[in-house]
Amino acid sequence: MAFSELIGQNEAKKRLGVSLTGEPGHAFLLVGPSGIGKKTLGREFAKGLLCSHPTENGACGSCPGCHYMQAGTHPDYKELLLPQGEKNIKVADVRSKILSDVGIMSQIAERKVYLIDADGLAEEGQNALLKTLEEPPKHVVFILTVSDESKLLPTILSRTVSIRLLPNTEEEVKEAILRRNPDTLPEEAQLFARFSNGVIGYALNLCESNWLINDWEEVTDLILRMPEISRTELLTEVYSFFDEEKDHFRDILSLMSMVYDEMAICATDSSSVCLHGEEKKDKMVTVIRKNHLDVQKIGKCNAILTTAAKAHKANGNFEMIVCRMLLALKKENING
Ligand SMILES: [Zn+2]
Repeated sequence: MAFSELIGQNEAKKRLGVSLTGEPGHAFLLVGPSGIGKKTLGREFAKGLLCSHPTENGACGSCPGCHYMQAGTHPDYKELLLPQGEKNIKVADVRSKILSDVGIMSQIAERKVYLIDADGLAEEGQNALLKTLEEPPKHVVFILTVSDESKLLPTILSRTVSIRLLPNTEEEVKEAILRRNPDTLPEEAQLFARFSNGVIGYALNLCESNWLINDWEEVTDLILRMPEISRTELLTEVYSFFDEEKDHFRDILSLMSMVYDEMAICATDSSSVCLHGEEKKDKMVTVIRKNHLDVQKIGKCNAILTTAAKAHKANGNFEMIVCRMLLALKKENING
């Protein structure tokens, strides 16, 4: 897979591509949130570093080195990742898998490449790596990935060329979803893409579970019924829904906020494209007209959600936060 086949991250790919055709440094740091594609890009860069004919678009895909990488058996490439369920990579593993290996010459390629998940390196592990990072053997290239670079020692940061992976656009995330799961409905892919804030890995995880779609339907119906709903129902049945979904309350708030954003768009221009299907959108337009909802009122609803999110973050009483929020939203949605 050449760089061009990876979705997005054009700036990072360009910088890595230039390194491939020139004299690459000895240590790179790919920085970006979890799920953004650091390891995928890191592996592709490693493949380019071990390829006989790399271009600015990455590995050639057809030389022996590329075949070994594709098969996952390249003797000059090693990964040190955080084992599932562990908090940190063991220092003993840093020593045995990296430090005692770097001195051995490469077998097929001109160099050896190590991909290291630096989020898994506690201070002790970083210190163990530091000396080799400061004076690496000529034939060695390190690719470190990290989501929180503030956890890295300044000396590690100063020894690596830092390359930042930025959030993908909604269209890029949608493309990634449909590439992996071609059967996904386009409006669902759009919803996953928007909710993921540009993080492809997160969006792909969302596709594997049903909660987002189910809760999206649930909160949309709740918001559309809000003007009609009674206080009693709000504080009993509707509250129960929030109580059951307690563990991802803030995700629910984000979804609600997305529904209100959709409403604001519909309130301004009823012919606009909507994340909801046509049927839901028509219903939305009816509710907006019937209850004289305008952008200002809808904006107030979003502010109520923000207040609830802040109170939740500050560990306020859950029942109180939810009930206050529901009553405030109801008040905002009453005609007049
Ligand atoms: Zn190649």
